[in-house]
Amino acid sequence: MFTPPARAERIRAVGPVAGLPPALQHALDEQGFDPMPRPGPHDWLASQPEPGQTFAAFLARHPPSPDPARRVLYLQPFGPFDIGQEPPLDLLSRFAAAFFALEAVVLPTAPVTGVTIRINSQTGQPQLLTRDLLALLADQRPAGACCIVGITMDDLYPDPAWNFVFGEASPRDRAGVYSLARYLPGEAGPAAASLLLRRACKVLAHETAHLLGIAHCVFYSCLMNGSNHLAESDVRPLHLCPVDLRKLQHSIGFDVAARYRRLRTFAGDAGFTDETRWLTAQLLHIEQHPASA
Ligand SMILES: [Zn+2]
Ligand SMILES: [Zn+2]
Repeated sequence: MFTPPARAERIRAVGPVAGLPPALQHALDEQGFDPMPRPGPHDWLASQPEPGQTFAAFLARHPPSPDPARRVLYLQPFGPFDIGQEPPLDLLSRFAAAFFALEAVVLPTAPVTGVTIRINSQTGQPQLLTRDLLALLADQRPAGACCIVGITMDDLYPDPAWNFVFGEASPRDRAGVYSLARYLPGEAGPAAASLLLRRACKVLAHETAHLLGIAHCVFYSCLMNGSNHLAESDVRPLHLCPVDLRKLQHSIGFDVAARYRRLRTFAGDAGFTDETRWLTAQLLHIEQHPASA
């Protein structure tokens, strides 16, 4: 049975911070973060015991990091989309650019040619095989891509033995794909659109972080927590815990305060009030201290 790591273990997972710019050190302390709660019986960690990935373990994997010639994150929509069911691509690319501090580009919508399709026996709905979509994405990945992420409104499955999957990433191909099919709220309207956007942002950031070598998180309530069901991913925050923030910062090399400011502008425009509040508090905490180098 999974036991949430104690404070000393969490601090150890972040690793020593002496020598880092003061603003980054403050961004990596525990203020504003909740420790990982004990999982419920149907939650991810109850069925998929994972050890977690410390910052040191991340470095030991020699994760791919975007080199100066590969600073573009491509979003590849797979269509066609039904009227009124188009994913919010402009907002998603703005979010991705702010979250990863990279350029984000939306490619023209592509058809799913040559992809294996089955009908799910429980839902009666078609499902696309992720392996085939990942192969398509690897073929289409433009030069200069840090990675390419496919977005579809069709449901996905990773293997005939599985019922469905929210998304899948292939770090080797620097390609990931995810579906918004199971994220559509029951009813239409502005609240539903905002919920869909939040879910889409979360899965985009989660899957893309996997592409950069960041594994599931067991230390804090974190965007990188695994999830078994929608309620579990809905309570997950839209931001990274100190352990995973450190990994992303190391990989991309952004200024933490500048990144949080950009994310706050996006969260305000998107109407994510709780996230805007959280980012404002983090910025206050970071900027009380001398600016980072
Ligand atoms: Zn994951
Ligand atoms: Zn984390």
